Amino acid sequence: MDSNGLSHKAHDATALRVPTYPSNCLEFAKIFLAPETQVSDQAEKAKVPLNILLVGAGLGGLATAIALSQSGHKVTVYEQTSVLGEVGAGIQVPSNSTRILFKLGLKPYLEPYVTEPENIAFRRWQTGKVIGNTSLAPDFTEKFGAPYYVIHRAHLHSALCQKVQDMGIEIKLGARIENYNPSVGSITLADGTTYTGDLVVAADGINSVARKIVLGGEDLAARKLGFAAYRATVDVERMKSDAEVSWILKKPALNIWIGDSRHVMTYTIGAGKAFNMVLSHPDATDPSTWDPLKAVDNMKAEFEGWDPVLTKMIGMVDKSLKWPLVSGSVLDKWVSEKLVILGDAAHAMLPYMSQGAAMAVEDGLALSRSLAKINSKEQLAESLSIFESVRMERAGQMQEASLLNSHLWHFADGPLQEARDAAMIPEVEGIPFSYSPNQWSDPATQMWCYGYDTERAIDEAWEKSRPNGV
Ligand SMILES: Cc1cc2nc3c(=O)[nH]c(=O)nc-3n(C[C@H](O)[C@H](O)[C@H](O)COP(=O)(O)OP(=O)(O)OC[C@H]3O[C@@H](n4cnc5c(N)ncnc54)[C@H](O)[C@@H]3O)c2cc1C
Repeated sequence: MDSNGLSHKAHDATALRVPTYPSNCLEFAKIFLAPETQVSDQAEKAKVPLNILLVGAGLGGLATAIALSQSGHKVTVYEQTSVLGEVGAGIQVPSNSTRILFKLGLKPYLEPYVTEPENIAFRRWQTGKVIGNTSLAPDFTEKFGAPYYVIHRAHLHSALCQKVQDMGIEIKLGARIENYNPSVGSITLADGTTYTGDLVVAADGINSVARKIVLGGEDLAARKLGFAAYRATVDVERMKSDAEVSWILKKPALNIWIGDSRHVMTYTIGAGKAFNMVLSHPDATDPSTWDPLKAVDNMKAEFEGWDPVLTKMIGMVDKSLKWPLVSGSVLDKWVSEKLVILGDAAHAMLPYMSQGAAMAVEDGLALSRSLAKINSKEQLAESLSIFESVRMERAGQMQEASLLNSHLWHFADGPLQEARDAAMIPEVEGIPFSYSPNQWSDPATQMWCYGYDTERAIDEAWEKSRPNGV
């Protein structure tokens, strides 16, 4: 016994219990607490290699194909388009996603194309004054073990395609899947050809055909929330030649102007060669009525009266694409027998946390981790059920966080907006703070969002389902 009455045994790691409240206080001791659950740099190898049919070669489908294949499964990808590619301009790759992409071996494929922004600055809609600030580099790498990147979508997609090709994973193009049979594990193409596997993974996007089948025939389509976004790029050479706007290119950064019902997110992509803009605004009209020829003029009209620097940059846009913004309905099922949906098919979200594709990347690694636990094909249902429950909670919470930003960013000038801006003063002035309406900065949200360990979440769920290791 020591002087405070504790036995020396109490100072062993065996006396430490992981708290039931959200806390990272035992991070330093995790190697002592459960050495067998330490996540290695290598993919956990599947004890039961499966023949997996994967539908959809989008960002989520390709990342999932890589994760599953590295774990030892045979994966064949079926994609409806005859040419692989991605539409739109930039995409943010937050640290929780980069960490996984690096683990999957994508670092050398991405490095030539990425930009690492130093910070994200929230700006007042009318003046551009900085009202919120999060340091991203090197802070996010130091805190969360991986950088926060921005990249052109086409570059991210081609990096994934190149990796898929180098790993020898087959992609069948022009292969539109019209039907699924979950009990057999088969898919049927438009021409009637049927393929059967041990498991079908559908990463077929927001208008998923598979989702309806998983839900038993009654689809729950995405919810329209009355927002649309213009996506555009500006030529940086043109910006550089204009002293009023060229300063924004001086350092790589994300800048977001927020105001009544609208915001504009900007950053450089193509390793600094292009300037990306996403301009969100209220629009509840039917996308089939949108005239693409009027997009640029309509976009300019939406932001009249905003910060002159911003409107000058908007004035430099020659081409713009208008995109409906929706949030996936919260589903109570992602799995039906041998069919599982993931990515936007399962949990599309508003892009206001920049986490939609990141969630699909996490899904891919989580599925591969959960499948690696099975010792026989009889355990497939259990493995899919654990995957489903872990990922449903995580992606559902990210849908919620994204939706919350649609309120936090869009206050009209008034008391709520003033209180929000006042709450961000400490982060702008470099004073310590314990909460922030900027979800990139808020300490609790930050740890949950970017510090999330996908594999550990799956390991813990397996342990919980078999407390005695049976
Ligand atoms: C404006 C905007 C900005 C965004 N910004 C970000 C961001 O910064 N960071 C982030 O992480 N996410 C962001 N997202 C979200 C992100 O783009 C999506 O979550 C992600 O692309 C979804 O990937 P997916 O593979 O699930 O689906 P998709 O990319 O839609 O891919 C589905 C694939 O399946 C194919 N397919 C569909 N049906 C069939 C079929 N029947 N048979 C065969 N093939 C089929 C399609 O052709 C496609 O290739 C943003 C979204 C928007 C709209």
